[in-house]
Amino acid sequence: GSAVLALSIAACSGEGAGGGGDTADKKPTDLTIGVSMPTQTSERWIADGNSVKEKLQAKGYKVDLQYAGDEIPTQSQQIDQMITQGADVLIIAAIDGTALTGQLQAAAQAKIPVISYDRLILGSPNVDFYVSFDNYKVGVAQATALLVGLGLQNKDGSKGTATGPFTIELFAGSLDDNNTQYFFGGAMDTLKPFFDNGTLKVKSGQTKIEQIATLRWQQGVAQTRMEDLLTSSYNDGSTVDGVLSPYDGISRGIITALQNAGYGKGKKKLPVVTGQDAEIASIKLINDGVQSSTVFKDTRLLAEQAAIAAEAFLQDKEPQANDTTTYNNKVKVVPAYLLPIQTVFKDDIKPVLVDSGYWTAEEVAAGQ
Ligand code: BGC
Repeated sequence: GSAVLALSIAACSGEGAGGGGDTADKKPTDLTIGVSMPTQTSERWIADGNSVKEKLQAKGYKVDLQYAGDEIPTQSQQIDQMITQGADVLIIAAIDGTALTGQLQAAAQAKIPVISYDRLILGSPNVDFYVSFDNYKVGVAQATALLVGLGLQNKDGSKGTATGPFTIELFAGSLDDNNTQYFFGGAMDTLKPFFDNGTLKVKSGQTKIEQIATLRWQQGVAQTRMEDLLTSSYNDGSTVDGVLSPYDGISRGIITALQNAGYGKGKKKLPVVTGQDAEIASIKLINDGVQSSTVFKDTRLLAEQAAIAAEAFLQDKEPQANDTTTYNNKVKVVPAYLLPIQTVFKDDIKPVLVDSGYWTAEEVAAGQ
């Protein structure tokens, strides 16, 4: 009786299917890594998925790569399935950082290490490692790029020639993504002195993260909010000089709303618009002088770190962290490996993106 019960529990928890534990003695070809990515609507996640798969396969591992279409239940099901099919490590970029506690509990029971990819999974003790970029610095970089674009600051950090005052609006990412608060926090800390001395002002008065967030980082949601802002706060003939945007898709939504309202024609200059991810459509806009900047995060390097961490766990070692204090997921501080970021203005496209092989000159010109 009890032996049978114990066996069936083991099978349910995934151990019977080969997942987790004792992987150090196995050949890489007998080990599978489940890779769960949020969505294919943004090209960075497609690049992430492909790179992670490539790097793991180069080490000999089998890879089960799934995209969840930005649907939380789909992601939960896909991870459940990876666990029951005996994944040996999970690499997860969560849609909603708080929604995977059950899955992670099952993974822990099956002794499957979990690597949180780019976005920290919250509220679970079963997050074993975090690979990401320095998310606070992304926010600092976005705000700095806004200041540089407006001429208030030079690229080297010295004071610019412009004096302002300038009118700006703020956008943030999806509230269920833990990165959103880091991006916004870094940006607001950087802009604060300029708000305090009156150099910058937000005409709509919308400065709280709840007011400016963009559900699931959607371009259309951002476009609608920008249209609403133009109607409600700029129908008196005043113009907006800058927009803090946390992601290229959001930036393009903002730019479309502005162009539809006559910005970019004649004397009505487009405001300085920031971004993130160096998406090809935005790189073309930067090259054409429409979008001002983006923040480049080299997904090839992030994928490499995820593969290195996965390999360490499979060899029964702890992956090497370079930050063990910042990322508290509300239950524990998760050891992290954080990668650096780079701001890209028009002049940086060639040295940073083309010369490193991230985009070709033809792709930049075509925007795809
Ligand atoms: C990532 C960003 C990305 C955003 C939208 C965030 O979690 O860190 O690089 O722009 O999600 O996909």
